[in-house]
Amino acid sequence: MASIKTLQQAVTNITIWRKGEQRAPHKPLLLLYVLAGYQNGHGRLFNYGTEIRDNLHVLLERFGPQRAQYRPDLPFWRLQGDGFWELQNAEHCSTSGSSRQPPARELLEHNVAGGFDEQHYSLLIKSKNLIDSVAQQILETHFTESIQEELADELGFNILQIRKQRDPLFRQQVLRAYNYECAICGFNMRHDNASVALEAAHIKWKQYGGPCDIPNGLALCAIHHKAFDKGSIGLDENMRLQVSEAVNGSGIVGRLFWDFQGKAISLPQTKALYPQEGFVEWHRREVFKG
Ligand SMILES: [Zn+2]
Repeated sequence: MASIKTLQQAVTNITIWRKGEQRAPHKPLLLLYVLAGYQNGHGRLFNYGTEIRDNLHVLLERFGPQRAQYRPDLPFWRLQGDGFWELQNAEHCSTSGSSRQPPARELLEHNVAGGFDEQHYSLLIKSKNLIDSVAQQILETHFTESIQEELADELGFNILQIRKQRDPLFRQQVLRAYNYECAICGFNMRHDNASVALEAAHIKWKQYGGPCDIPNGLALCAIHHKAFDKGSIGLDENMRLQVSEAVNGSGIVGRLFWDFQGKAISLPQTKALYPQEGFVEWHRREVFKG
C-alpha cells in the first residue's frame, strides 16, 4: 500500500542510487520538476518528448555538474525501479540491450509518458504540504543550501527550514581562521562588532560527505559564496581563483570577478588549516563550470 512512509522511503532510495562522491542529480531534478507540476495542477503523467526532455535538460545543465552530455532519458526510464514511478506506452520500446534501456528516440516515437503511480499521486495531490516536504527532502539530500533556495524559489516550493541546518561552530571557526574577511575580495564590513554578509562556505558539499571543518571551509562574502556554490568560480591546485567563462556582466561584476581571476586567495595563518586539495578537487570536478 502506498503511504506517506513508502513515499519518503522511495525518496531515500533515490539517494542510495547515487554513485559515491559523484553528483548524480538526474532523478532528483526530474522528481522536483514533476512535483512542481503537480503543485500547479498538472495531471499524473508527463509526456517525455514534449514536456520532460528539454526542460530536464535545461535543469541538468544549470544545476548538475558539467558533463560532456546530459541524458534526461536515463532517470525517466530508470525511476521505474524505485517502486513509485510508472510509464505509459513503455511496452512498445525495445529493452533487449544489456542496459535494458531503450534508445532515447523510442521514448519519443512511442509517446512514452511517466509520473508517480496512481496511489502515490493521489496522496500527493491531496496535500500541498506533502509535496513541499518531499521536495524539501530531495533538495536537502542533493544540493547545498544556496542551491536549495534557488531551486525552491524557481520551482515554487515552500521551504522553511534551510537555515536551521547550518552549523554555528563551523561558521565561527572558519571566519576566525580567515580573519573575518572574504578570502577572495577581502570584504570585511562590520556593523559595530558584527560581521555583515560574511559567510562560511563548504568547499565539498555536506550532502556528499564534506565535513564541517576548517580545511573544508572558506570565509566568503555573500556574493562570492553564492558564485562559488553555483560553480561560477573555483580554485586551482595553487589556490588561485578561476572564473567560469559563463560569468558575464558589466562594471562592478568585472571588479568582483575578473579582477581576481588567477589571483591567489587569502589563506589562514596555519598551513594545517588551508583548504584540503581533495575537497577543492571535488568542487572543481562536481561544481565548477570551467
Ligand atoms: Zn568577496
